[in-house]
Amino acid sequence: MSLLSIRGLTKAWEDAHVLQALDLDMMPGQHTLVMGPSGSGKSTLLHIIARLIEPDAGELLFENQPIQGLGSGPQYRRQNLGLIFQDVHLIESLSGRDNIAMIQAHVERSGAPIAELVEPLGLAAVIDRPVRVLSRGERQRVALARAFAGRPQLILADEPTASLDPSTAKRVLDLIVDLAERWNSTLLMVTHDHEIATRPDWSQVFVMNQGRLKASGSIMNTGQC
Ligand code: ADP
Ligand code: MG
Repeated sequence: MSLLSIRGLTKAWEDAHVLQALDLDMMPGQHTLVMGPSGSGKSTLLHIIARLIEPDAGELLFENQPIQGLGSGPQYRRQNLGLIFQDVHLIESLSGRDNIAMIQAHVERSGAPIAELVEPLGLAAVIDRPVRVLSRGERQRVALARAFAGRPQLILADEPTASLDPSTAKRVLDLIVDLAERWNSTLLMVTHDHEIATRPDWSQVFVMNQGRLKASGSIMNTGQC
């Protein structure tokens, strides 16, 4: 059974037809990459999956259930998703540890032990400091820890390396993939960076093509299915 199954997803902004009958299936544990240039609809796709915006048409099933039936938007996101979006949205006055604990307090299943997030992300020295005093890179890693804190079934990552230098970008990608594997999360990443497709991590790679997904041909492993 697919973890997420999307059929006929359609969204226009005014007269711009961004998504046009897009289909996507992700099996549990798969790592999916979607590539596309700026403006091709990648963020729109993730925002619709996260129920942050409404599609014009189409069906989205999460474990065979329509996503609109899975509680309110915030409940659905907290119970099922980890978001790695460009706006980090941490609570500045709280420590990294408390930002993570807040997520875990709302999730029904037991969360990831904080120590197991902090150590691989190299955050041990700063996790108890208020987020407002942290560097950009440290905040980004706290946000990564938070995305995985509830052991979500599905991680949505929107250009997580967009403004990073190549070596930091590689480290961040390694961390995302390692954590997804460690917690058995399904991963959907979108990017304009073709380099990312050369990594061996992907179960399936697609290119945005006129509002739909086209297989890029670089199917390098079959994930855990
Ligand atoms: P990508 O993430 O691939 O760069 P987006 O999904 O952000 O692309 O945007 C796709 C298109 O939809 C762009 O032309 C963008 O200007 C437009 N768009 C995105 N969000 C909105 C919005 N809230 N209102 C109007 N147009 C939007
Ligand atoms: Mg975008």
